[in-house]
Amino acid sequence: MDLRKIIRDVPDFPKPGILFKDITPVMENPAAYRQALEEMTALLDGVPYDKLAAIESRGFIFGGPMAVEQDKAMVLFRKVGKLPAKTRQVTYDLEYGTATLEVHLDALKQGDRVIIVDDLLATGGTARASAQLVRASGAVVAGFLFMVELEFLGGAELLQEAGPVFSLVKYS
Ligand code: AMP
Repeated sequence: MDLRKIIRDVPDFPKPGILFKDITPVMENPAAYRQALEEMTALLDGVPYDKLAAIESRGFIFGGPMAVEQDKAMVLFRKVGKLPAKTRQVTYDLEYGTATLEVHLDALKQGDRVIIVDDLLATGGTARASAQLVRASGAVVAGFLFMVELEFLGGAELLQEAGPVFSLVKYS
């Protein structure tokens, strides 16, 4: 199945000039959703890792099912104020605006090899900030995994020093 045909383009969301790649039709199609999860998992073949760190909120769509299927821990990187226990924070620039991400202090341990998961790589700012959270916890970035990459925004170049980048559907 061609996931490219199922992902929907929404122009001018959330603000004028942004072409939003809407992945919700993928999850509404069980075969497509399963295919996306299986193919994303396959991208990690041969990559040793201990935990998946999924970025709120669309990273959870992929991180949860993959973590269960692969028998790995899933760690939540959440927007500020959502996690109940003690956290570490990072603030970063987005394609549109700024944001803060948090992780529980005890969620990542020294030496954990972590795959950072999100739905889409745009400028790479969110993923790079997530890598900072991983390293600040004493853990190691084993790689970055996305369902969609907007190659023309150069996110992979921004991330290349932090770890290998794996993405399923690329728009050039
Ligand atoms: P960035 O930090 O620029 O790589 O942005 C990545 C985050 O913003 C991801 O969590 C995406 O869900 C979201 N995002 C940014 N740009 C788009 C876009 N054009 N279409 C869909 N989601 C986007």
